[in-house]
Amino acid sequence: MLILIIMSAPKILYGYVIYTIVVVIKMIDGIIAIDAHVHVHPLGRKRYGKFPVLTPPEMLLEEMDRNGFDKAVIVNAGSVVPELMRENNDYVSEVVKKWPNRFIGFAGICPLLGSVAIEELERAVNVLGLKGIKLYPPHGYPIDSPIVFPIVEKAISLNIPIVIHSDFQSLFCNPYQIARLASLYPEATLIMAHMGMHPDLFLLTPEIVKPYNNIVLDTSGTPECPEITFVYSIRELGVDRIVFGSDALYFDQALALKKLERAKERWGLTEEEKRHILGENMARILRI
Ligand SMILES: [Zn+2]
Repeated sequence: MLILIIMSAPKILYGYVIYTIVVVIKMIDGIIAIDAHVHVHPLGRKRYGKFPVLTPPEMLLEEMDRNGFDKAVIVNAGSVVPELMRENNDYVSEVVKKWPNRFIGFAGICPLLGSVAIEELERAVNVLGLKGIKLYPPHGYPIDSPIVFPIVEKAISLNIPIVIHSDFQSLFCNPYQIARLASLYPEATLIMAHMGMHPDLFLLTPEIVKPYNNIVLDTSGTPECPEITFVYSIRELGVDRIVFGSDALYFDQALALKKLERAKERWGLTEEEKRHILGENMARILRI
């Protein structure tokens, strides 16, 4: 933990008015740590209509403080219903405004909504100040279909990254489909969440995405194998293309961090590789 003291509350010393602010930078092993994949929702929201999931920002901040994370990127999926899509983005923007040093917000956009989706993307970036897009193809569209292209083209013109949910078992967003989208739009920055998730198949993902330098892998929701998740992937793709994600508070941030630590203790992940995964790569992508 690093404590920075900069100017703030007035104090008179030797006749001068002095201001001081104490800024606590948490850090993990000296690294400014960014969790590239989290979710926040108002208290009481239920998932799939009945299953209660407690993911309010206050609870997530407690976890981040406990685990040493400085910042987290909110990548809520949003909705296929226009009003709910806008409501989610408004909520994410409110959370970011309340804790601007801790959260970065991405817009949940549904390409099925056509021009409504484009308008919402422009509003989310230009009015709400969100910094990227989350696409969740299980809403009902193949990620490499033409319905997605206008969103990707808009992201390129706005110069923002796109996080895409991936799943080998999905008809909509398996890693091969995301690779195809990357090949069609080499100027787009695509962050593939979960590495395809499948415990037997996710080791194929680094090889599938290797030819497409515009794909970065986010390690949230990956199977419990530190070696494939962090070591094999970074050796295959280079230090710049892996970012740490936890999917907190759906999944446990401390367990995800433990997996990264095990990659270093047991599987030979280097300090430099860890630094890139844990913060430097996401900071570069977000230009912070
Ligand atoms: Zn997620």
